[in-house]
Amino acid sequence: MSQDVREVRLHTFSGWIDPPTDLQPAVSGEVTCDIAVIGGGVGGMGTTMRLAERGQDVVLIEAEFLGYGSSSRNGGHISGAPGGDLRMLKLFYPRQMKGMVVLADHAAEYLQGKIRDLDIACDYVPNGLAMVAISPLQMLRIKTCAAILKKAGGRGHVGTAEQLGIPRAFVGGMKEGVGGMLNPGKLCRGLRADVISSSARVYEQSKVTDVRRRDDGKVVIATPGGTVIADKVVLSTNAYAGEWAITPDRLSVPAYLIEAETEPIDPARIEALGWTSRTGTISQHQIMEHFRVTERGTIVIGVRRIERGTSYPLPKDKAPDLGLVKELEDAFHTRFPSLADVKVAQAWGGWIAITSSWISLAGKLADNIWYSCCCNGHGLAQAPYIGSLIADNIVDGTMHDDLKGIWLDEPKFPPFLMMSPAGLRTVWALDRLCDVFNGSARRARRAAVAIA
Ligand SMILES: Cc1cc2nc3c(=O)[nH]c(=O)nc-3n(C[C@H](O)[C@H](O)[C@H](O)COP(=O)(O)OP(=O)(O)OC[C@H]3O[C@@H](n4cnc5c(N)ncnc54)[C@H](O)[C@@H]3O)c2cc1C
Repeated sequence: MSQDVREVRLHTFSGWIDPPTDLQPAVSGEVTCDIAVIGGGVGGMGTTMRLAERGQDVVLIEAEFLGYGSSSRNGGHISGAPGGDLRMLKLFYPRQMKGMVVLADHAAEYLQGKIRDLDIACDYVPNGLAMVAISPLQMLRIKTCAAILKKAGGRGHVGTAEQLGIPRAFVGGMKEGVGGMLNPGKLCRGLRADVISSSARVYEQSKVTDVRRRDDGKVVIATPGGTVIADKVVLSTNAYAGEWAITPDRLSVPAYLIEAETEPIDPARIEALGWTSRTGTISQHQIMEHFRVTERGTIVIGVRRIERGTSYPLPKDKAPDLGLVKELEDAFHTRFPSLADVKVAQAWGGWIAITSSWISLAGKLADNIWYSCCCNGHGLAQAPYIGSLIADNIVDGTMHDDLKGIWLDEPKFPPFLMMSPAGLRTVWALDRLCDVFNGSARRARRAAVAIA
């Protein structure tokens, strides 16, 4: 039964949490500091927290409020493996492969540790994340990826749907050995509280309009209410970085991804799908389709299509396109026919940065300006972890091996392939074509008959 998607509540922020009511003051007049971090997502907050811990004079400048960006809007999967197709990463970046796998594993451990140490109530369930196969062909891909992951030092084990406790609509999958799922809105709110209570000075409602190095080397950061003058700067604005002239050409392109959430579902019906582990699932399409159960008894469905941002500044109050919401609703009902009566209740989306190499990057633009561009849609754990490593690099010049692996000596980037709106549409169409022939809908219907 198809629903009228016009009934779906569309958010311009997130469905996970409401905006905070205790906004911090904007930059006013002239502010001076040793280090300024621009962008208060998990990346900027991770950097700031570490700098404050290490006794630095640090200022965090955020356009809206800490956690406004994709950090509060994502699927909430903490993944312990690199994003993207591991076969492609191995083919194109064989030397970086091991480093990326270890970094992703350490990042998941890092974020789990932060949640524990700061006692952040974000509904974290450490039940791994499963790469799942909707067809035998996708299962072959998973087995290859699992072997690559293992060889590179990653953790994960392959199994059938029954063995992994994931829905019987899937052939099977690989469950990562670290990570799990959480409410990213609550995570950001917990991190925000910690940063605000630290020695860092936090300015919200302060959109940086320009970043410039003065002749004396100091960096001048312009905002509508005033100027911040810093000895060192960390750029941590993710998809929005292209808004300034100082950002190198082709660092990344912005892409808009969406999530949709169902109305609450009887837990017995979720269990009847075979989803006993409640582990979140990510399909092996070229553009993933993901499903996860939430603590509020709903299912969140994600992505399937990527909308390319074509110009800066990125639209501020963008809401999901109803056509894309409908597509997620269809995906949900196709995979889980026994839940055909369950409606999608709300949807939201956010901007991520995609690098041309599809791998995370970090480096310096000058002696005193650091940047990172993390993780192409898998940055919930990696962005703050890399941010903390950048903080250590600033304080004592050390370069952790995990940072070394993604460090670029020169900020030069190759052209993008397949990231034009037409290219993305082609990839999406190929995924849909494969879905017609791969028997996945039939498999899902058979699984539903077993439930009935
Ligand atoms: C729909 C969706 C699903 C996703 N699912 C997952 C997932 O399940 N697991 C996972 O690991 N990752 C996921 N991601 C990716 C993950 O959310 C990001 O990689 C991560 O949050 C990036 O953090 P960040 O701090 O770099 O960027 P952001 O959270 O985007 O933060 C950037 C901040 O910079 C601020 N800013 C921008 N411009 C300026 C300016 N001019 N001046 C001052 N401040 C500025 C913004 O307001 C924003 O708060 C998903 C992303 C989306 C959109």
